[in-house]
Amino acid sequence: MMSNRQYLIVANWKMNGRRASACALITAIKQELAVADQTTVAICPPFVYLPELAEQLADSQLKLGAQNVSHIHDGAYTGEIAALMLKEFACLYVIVGHCERRMLYNESDTLVAKKFIAVQDAEMIPILCVGEQLEERATNTTEHVIARQLDEVIAMAGIKAFNNAVIAYEPVWAIGTGKTASPEQAQAVHAFIRLRLARHDCKIADTIRIIYGGSVKAANAQQLFQMADIDGGLIGGASLIATDFLAICQATR
Ligand code: PEP
Repeated sequence: MMSNRQYLIVANWKMNGRRASACALITAIKQELAVADQTTVAICPPFVYLPELAEQLADSQLKLGAQNVSHIHDGAYTGEIAALMLKEFACLYVIVGHCERRMLYNESDTLVAKKFIAVQDAEMIPILCVGEQLEERATNTTEHVIARQLDEVIAMAGIKAFNNAVIAYEPVWAIGTGKTASPEQAQAVHAFIRLRLARHDCKIADTIRIIYGGSVKAANAQQLFQMADIDGGLIGGASLIATDFLAICQATR
């Protein structure tokens, strides 16, 4: 199938599982994972499992990530987790702006941009999630919404910051609903994202990894990953079942 593309598959476990199931899941994935060199696989567990998983993954090709982070470095912010704390537990990636954070916790574009910057300040790679809601797609404002979400980060972090970042296109209506965007629908938005970045820097637009999230499953992964501008996936529900997740990882081969 695909040749020199660098794929990234990210598991977002969200607030699921318990310590024992997290360890069992990581053991199963670690044992069976066999991906081509051009594919990177990262696991984003709940914060509290990061130290244990960091130990388990020390000798593995699997990378570790976090699902969220504070935009502030230190101080009296009860309940928050700073980027440098994540860095101490071998996190390489941090998801920022997931739609559940934007919608359930009212995270604004500006706050997401600050988190993006905090992740890079701690020398990790932000996975910036963008995506439209169902009504926005229905009223043909998808591109407007994605542009707004991207432009705020470009304005605050600068385009060069995207040299070391990943973008995840996640249509809100496809997350956890079983309704996947068709490969063509997803491709169209991925191409739009590249165009938007190309207004500032063509090389970054060409090389940045743009992954798709929203009900990716073993059955639809290959078709999605075959599209010209889809460089992997952000996987929620299907990442909680080792065989399903492994099959999705295999779909980049
Ligand atoms: C997600 O939570 O980012 C996600 C894509 O979930 P799901 O795969 O379950 O739709």
